[in-house]
Amino acid sequence: MAFEKGFIKMLLFRSWWYDPYQLKARVIQAIYEMKKDKGLEQRLRKEIVYTNRVCVESGLIRSSDGNISIRLEDDRFLVTPSGLYKRRLKLKQLLIVNHQGEIIKGQGGLKPSSELLMHLEAYRQREAIRAVLHAHPPYSTALTIAGIPFPTDIIPEVVLALGDVPTAPYATPGTQDLALSISDLFKNHNAILLSNHGSLTVGKTLEEALLALERMELAAQMYYLAYNLGKIIPLPEEEIKRLKASIEQTLS
Ligand SMILES: [Zn+2]
Repeated sequence: MAFEKGFIKMLLFRSWWYDPYQLKARVIQAIYEMKKDKGLEQRLRKEIVYTNRVCVESGLIRSSDGNISIRLEDDRFLVTPSGLYKRRLKLKQLLIVNHQGEIIKGQGGLKPSSELLMHLEAYRQREAIRAVLHAHPPYSTALTIAGIPFPTDIIPEVVLALGDVPTAPYATPGTQDLALSISDLFKNHNAILLSNHGSLTVGKTLEEALLALERMELAAQMYYLAYNLGKIIPLPEEEIKRLKASIEQTLS
């Protein structure tokens, strides 16, 4: 009896193999899914190349430094290659890796970014994160070299849209130590500074990560200019409280 049930089930399940109409429908569906995946991948490749260009043109990424990744699916990540001059980055040079950093798809000879471990750690810490952007913004990084904490109290945009930007202790670039140095900080922040090195920003989209990076660098630049003009006058504490209360009101 059990054998008969299993046999009938198998026939029902496999019925599309011998039904030309069902078979055709399955093939069309598979081609559609494949094209949809390829379309999404291509769109995200363009987004990475575009964001890279914005960063290069505004001096946030220079030379072969900096790297960008996007989560395609749970176990697939699109990432920039290591060691290439960023002004020349092309769509086809981006690689696809899995969560262990193994290459699934890529152009011969190209390796994923040397900071891939740090990107993967960020994705591990925050499931909702879909994009990670590592840059070398000069003003923000200069703060870490001078031992000055990131100023969160000088302009309203930082209070409203960026929040605290903690600084991770120095760790050698490209190492597991660097990846681990950011893991705790990432749980509650979308932007982090890496001592004597650069920055890491994340978002649900790559645009969100880019917005955080630009906002952070602008605030650091304003801080630097004001400091050189004479002195820093932060926003009054009551105003910061008001701004924070307005965020809570918007969220509730
Ligand atoms: Zn770096």
